[in-house]
Amino acid sequence: MMSYEGYQDRILTCRDCGQEFTFTAGEQEFFATKGLTNAPSRCPECRKARRNGSSQQRSYGGSSEREQHDAICATCGKATTVPFVPREDRPVYCSDCFQEQRASRAPRSGGGGRGGRNGGRDRHDRDNSWDRDRW
Ligand SMILES: [Zn+2]
Ligand SMILES: [Zn+2]
Repeated sequence: MMSYEGYQDRILTCRDCGQEFTFTAGEQEFFATKGLTNAPSRCPECRKARRNGSSQQRSYGGSSEREQHDAICATCGKATTVPFVPREDRPVYCSDCFQEQRASRAPRSGGGGRGGRNGGRDRHDRDNSWDRDRW
């Protein structure tokens, strides 16, 4: 039997995320034993997040330290996550393809297969000089 006398679950609103959370009778009693009289102003998750954010974030392998958004890689179609909100007018790449993109953007020979045909006007001059340098 629970016997938290004088304590009743209370519904509180988190000041950080605005979510309602339960300040349970047990927690209230626990608070009381610690000499805390104020109700918590944040939900357990936000409290945990704040605690982790200050000192322990590294011990968790970083799954929640930055907000990740699901996305589909524009090149290989693999599901991936990116630390920003993906937009329709911007291709999103998984980490592998992102590295490839970066590599292929560097001025290397690379076989000259696909891509590279957009933005013809601005690139033209540069491409010419590259070409002359190289060939
Ligand atoms: Zn919260
Ligand atoms: Zn990919």
